[in-house]
Amino acid sequence: MRPLVAHIDLDALRHNYQLACQCAPQSRSLAVIKANAYGHGAVACAQALESQVPAFGVACIEEALALREGGITKPIVLLEGIFSAAELPLVDHHQFWVAVHSAWQVDALLAFSPQQPIPVWLKVDSGMHRLGFEVKEASAVWQRLDNAPQVAALHLMSHFATADASDGRYFTQQMQALQTLAKTLGAPLCLANSPATLAWPDAHGDWNRPGVMLYGSDPLEVANDTTRQLRPVMSLRSEIIALRELSEGEPVGYGGRWHAKRRSRIAVVAAGYGDGYDRHAVDGTPVLVNGQRCAIAGKVSMDMLTVDVTDIQSAAIGSEVVLWGAASNGAVLSVDEVARYCDTISYTLLTGVLPRVPRHYQ
Ligand code: PLP
Repeated sequence: MRPLVAHIDLDALRHNYQLACQCAPQSRSLAVIKANAYGHGAVACAQALESQVPAFGVACIEEALALREGGITKPIVLLEGIFSAAELPLVDHHQFWVAVHSAWQVDALLAFSPQQPIPVWLKVDSGMHRLGFEVKEASAVWQRLDNAPQVAALHLMSHFATADASDGRYFTQQMQALQTLAKTLGAPLCLANSPATLAWPDAHGDWNRPGVMLYGSDPLEVANDTTRQLRPVMSLRSEIIALRELSEGEPVGYGGRWHAKRRSRIAVVAAGYGDGYDRHAVDGTPVLVNGQRCAIAGKVSMDMLTVDVTDIQSAAIGSEVVLWGAASNGAVLSVDEVARYCDTISYTLLTGVLPRVPRHYQ
């Protein structure tokens, strides 16, 4: 068997969720498990969290249905609402909650006769300028929904564009627009994603929506006491499958990007971009070999990557290689650090792990 496995630590997931709750004790924290729980396996993660969470958040009805098929009975919020009016009978049947961000969704909902009223989260564009009603039109939409027999509990929802940044000016602008609106309408609020949950208590509404922090990634520009306690949920582990001795000046891999500056030992590891490991990883991107840090040398290939293990005496065929997460000896390589070397964010690395990598749950 190819030795590349994504180990998923469900205790760490529960621990991180509890940290989110501790940050915002007055709020209910919905667990965002869209995109297959950020690559970790939505049903397994939902099952692990179900006794602790009041609700789950997903991107679309297909994800919500997969959770119901997996036996999840807690409320599930479609964070982008419906993509077609044809979804409404399923929304009704499975008692999903829906966000509405556009007039056509409101019209479709109000033209539908559900068996029971549907909880609705009215999405307001307070500055992300992506989805949602403009603040100035939100009151009228709210009144329409509030009076409708199709609608159960109604909430205001918005999404922050810069909650991860230490410069809070734009964030504060978004917050003020929402709080004024919520006060006028007497509306319960759902605002905070992970960075706002972690760093902006003013944004803690009746509900929060933490996502990436549940998986152990620190979304803040500057770590704080809570983010230092996050535990990695996914550990992407492989092994050395071959070793090469190179003389000074010899290159490694496609294009010969990396050259040995001294006599070097190169380990070939069974993980590549065909598994979702980012091909943008530069020379120097860290990995852990037998729990010791060393670095990628040469371009990532489809099925393998190469690592300079000249200084790792213990490196041998079969040695453990951690691409991110925790090693067997307890050493940790954060996915956030790997993401910086790939000029990306943890979200893309985690959601990018492809189906050919088996997930093992513990
Ligand atoms: N809420 C909404 C509407 C989102 O789209 C997302 C993620 O993109 C989240 C919450 C969770 O964000 P994060 O993973 O940064 O906590």
